[in-house]
Amino acid sequence: MPGRKSAWLGIQSTSFASQNGCQSVNGELVFSPYESGVFWRRALASLLGPDIPAHLRDDFTMLTACHMRGQARLVFVGFILSLPLVMLGASPQTSFLVAFGLPLTVLVLAVTGLIVLRTPCDLAAGASEAKQVIASVWRLCMLIAAIGSIWCVASWASAPPESKLYYPAIMALGVLTLGYCLTAVREVALTTLLVTMTPISIALASTGEVMNLILAGSQAIAVTFQVFLINRHQNLLFSMTEQQHKSAQQARRDPLTGLANRRALMERFSAEAALGSHIRLMVVDIDRFKAINDRHGHDVGDEVLCAFAELLRIHTRGDICAARLGGEEFALLAKAEALDPAIALQLLGEIRGAYMPHGEQITASIGVADGTVTDPADWNGLYGKADRALYRAKNDGRNRVRSYKAEAEADYITGGTSARSRHG
Ligand code: GH3
Ligand code: MG
Ligand code: MG
Repeated sequence: MPGRKSAWLGIQSTSFASQNGCQSVNGELVFSPYESGVFWRRALASLLGPDIPAHLRDDFTMLTACHMRGQARLVFVGFILSLPLVMLGASPQTSFLVAFGLPLTVLVLAVTGLIVLRTPCDLAAGASEAKQVIASVWRLCMLIAAIGSIWCVASWASAPPESKLYYPAIMALGVLTLGYCLTAVREVALTTLLVTMTPISIALASTGEVMNLILAGSQAIAVTFQVFLINRHQNLLFSMTEQQHKSAQQARRDPLTGLANRRALMERFSAEAALGSHIRLMVVDIDRFKAINDRHGHDVGDEVLCAFAELLRIHTRGDICAARLGGEEFALLAKAEALDPAIALQLLGEIRGAYMPHGEQITASIGVADGTVTDPADWNGLYGKADRALYRAKNDGRNRVRSYKAEAEADYITGGTSARSRHG
């Protein structure tokens, strides 16, 4: 079974609510405003960025790569458009290499970036492709940042005193735009900011001149705010990833019992079909459930369904998928070798012996079918067989297992033809 799908199906019993009491709102750490040191703790948390849990990392990487793809395209287009200005504005005293060689190299890198990012974002492509895209953009941006930094420091150093300040100012404008456009991937944005702004800020500060110090200080403040902005953006993307994960879980879970639902079962079936597996399906139907509803009410009927689901959940260990197909019909599905028919008999025994919320014993009937599946459409055939076997189990008196394959001769009657109430 492919990793992502099995991950969804594997989560059968965890509640959607936080399990360990940690609170989170929109992916941001929440501190009480009355706590001492709250500002610094918030600031530190914001600087460090969100702590991505392992099970969300791949999804987060894919989402950020998708966001970055769109924004980084803008960055590269921006570089290409601003190159004529950079060349025009080159200091007359600077070398040909700095005035034209560096901008033309940036042109080549930016065009390469646009080629790398030419395809639209595809979230289904997987985390490794997303990581590759991020790494490529990162490399290109770092090269451009280094070139920009050299251009700025070299131009600033060689410019006449009256036009010296233009270069750090041009650089700051470009870098802050660049940082904003790369906010989707924190590491890319932060390292780009660092590489572009640090050398010129140090160069400015080292002169000891008041205006240079003011410019360096202003740049440092602007970059710091940019860092907070980048982290807020990260928190937002993390929050989106969390929500997507929860929605995906909910879409695959039966809301009443918490078991996998039919959709999740079908995904598992499709995954097995893709592998050409020999699988076994058990359709489990509670006997005379309508009578429970009629006698005890629908709410108690719901409680019985939940208790019944718990019995099935016990069998979801290993690679067995337990699901609620609808109403009082459930299913177990796995590779044939993992779902021995004896499990069906064992399950019927457990159902008969279980305490139920309405205080009475219940029974169930099970139809079993197995086969090699190669196409998701094979579901209808396999389910049809299991359903016919179930029909036969019902007709033969309920509280029993019938296997489609050996329907004619096998008769797994399990402890009598009728269920006896615990309370008479
Ligand atoms: P059989 O042994 O032939 O399976 O009889 P049965 O009464 O179990 O089956 P039948 O199909 O006649 O009735 C199923 C009942 O399940 C009818 C329906 O009201 C009830 N039901 C379906 N979904 C739910 C639910 O979510 N909650 C509750 N409480 N009852 C439900
Ligand atoms: Mg029934
Ligand atoms: Mg039924």
